[in-house]
Amino acid sequence: MLIQLIYRSRSRSPLEGGELRGLGHDFAQRNQRQQVSGLLLYDGAYFLQVLEGEENTVEALFQRIRLDPRHTDIVLLLRDPIPALHFGRWQMGALDVRTGPSQDTSTPGSPGWSTLGLSAHHDHRAARIVEAFVRGRWRDPTPAMAWFADSRWEVPPSPGPDRCDAALLGMTPAGSHFALQPIVHARDRRITSVEALLRGPSGAPPHTVLHSLPQDRLHAFDLHSKADAIALAASIQLPCSLSVNLLPASLVLNGHAVDFLVRACEQHGWPVQRLTVEITEEEAITHLDLFRHAVQRLRAAGIQVAIDDFGAGHAGLSLLADFQPDTLKLDRRIIQRVHESGPRQAIVRSVIEFCFCLGITVVAEGVETVEEWRWLQSAGIRRFQGYLFAKPRLHGVPDIHWPLADIQRLAA
Ligand code: C2E
Ligand code: MN
Ligand code: MN
Repeated sequence: MLIQLIYRSRSRSPLEGGELRGLGHDFAQRNQRQQVSGLLLYDGAYFLQVLEGEENTVEALFQRIRLDPRHTDIVLLLRDPIPALHFGRWQMGALDVRTGPSQDTSTPGSPGWSTLGLSAHHDHRAARIVEAFVRGRWRDPTPAMAWFADSRWEVPPSPGPDRCDAALLGMTPAGSHFALQPIVHARDRRITSVEALLRGPSGAPPHTVLHSLPQDRLHAFDLHSKADAIALAASIQLPCSLSVNLLPASLVLNGHAVDFLVRACEQHGWPVQRLTVEITEEEAITHLDLFRHAVQRLRAAGIQVAIDDFGAGHAGLSLLADFQPDTLKLDRRIIQRVHESGPRQAIVRSVIEFCFCLGITVVAEGVETVEEWRWLQSAGIRRFQGYLFAKPRLHGVPDIHWPLADIQRLAA
């Protein structure tokens, strides 16, 4: 099977015209042997390369290219089967897009670009990706690693709730248990809120606890357990806001759900303004009218609302068109390996833009690596939750790992 693969990467050091031609020449020889065709573009800082050929050959070549020390920040933009080679005439043309193949480089399809064989495929995604690169419409927000590691990050750690003693807690009112996971502002080294995650008595995950309940008790338990989460936050004097998860049905079907939460806050001396209810997007949409009504009541009480796992469900955009939360949490499936996925980057950037315009705070969930964090931070996200910073801890707030040292190590 023939495939086409397009990636973008950052040159480790700027190339002179002669070096670029040399690179193109080396690639051309290798690709001719392997019957791979394509194109290498350079804009003074970044490469865009199109590779076409037999699937196994192109894959093996790409694996080798990824290890090439001459570039970094490799982002896969497209990898799809094709019926025939689009750049068949090109074993590997190397072009500087600032000078281009002729005087007129502004538009693929113009006389200059037609020498690339692009004009025949102008309606194809590959040609449009090349065009976006040539026009500079794709800008990578990530600064070079060395810049990222600079002293802007040397903010003294704020005194946060570093530890708490599980023995402080005693028995909780509804007998449910919670692990706490911080959501952090990485640059200010601040915990902005802490999410309470339901656990079994010996740490079993939420779905095990929820599935062990008879259906007719599920929603009442879900709601009532939140009094335990609030009690926990109050007992350890959490100095930030608390997020709790609720099934939308737990909010909608329990007639006095909002009153219950407000009373639980009063009872434990927890300010309602510091409570956020997280609702998963996928389920919220199934009861939209009732859901909206419940959200109005939450807001009237001063409780904040977050959409959880955005991007994992099916109704994300239409839900957002009608209802805007205080916080939107980007699902881990969108965050995972975002630093090397063109489609994920484009999605995240559009969500950031949308949320910025509407005053919605974005949280990136499930951040596990420094590379993911660096990309997200550079794209404008400020709040993060994930194993990179802290894993959930039963009955207490875990220590936070601030990844500055990791960044400095990568930059070295
Ligand atoms: P969630 O609200 O999206 O919570 C985040 C989940 O992702 C947690 O899993 C957390 O442990 C996990 N997580 C956090 N950072 C990372 C990371 O870097 N990598 C990976 N792989 N995972 C990470 P957990 O505790 O198993 O909870 C799963 C889901 O169960 C929660 O997802 C939430 O939707 C639901 N849940 C938790 N507590 C409750 C509750 O009290 N009521 C209801 N109805 N659902 C709850
Ligand atoms: Mn959640
Ligand atoms: Mn989530």
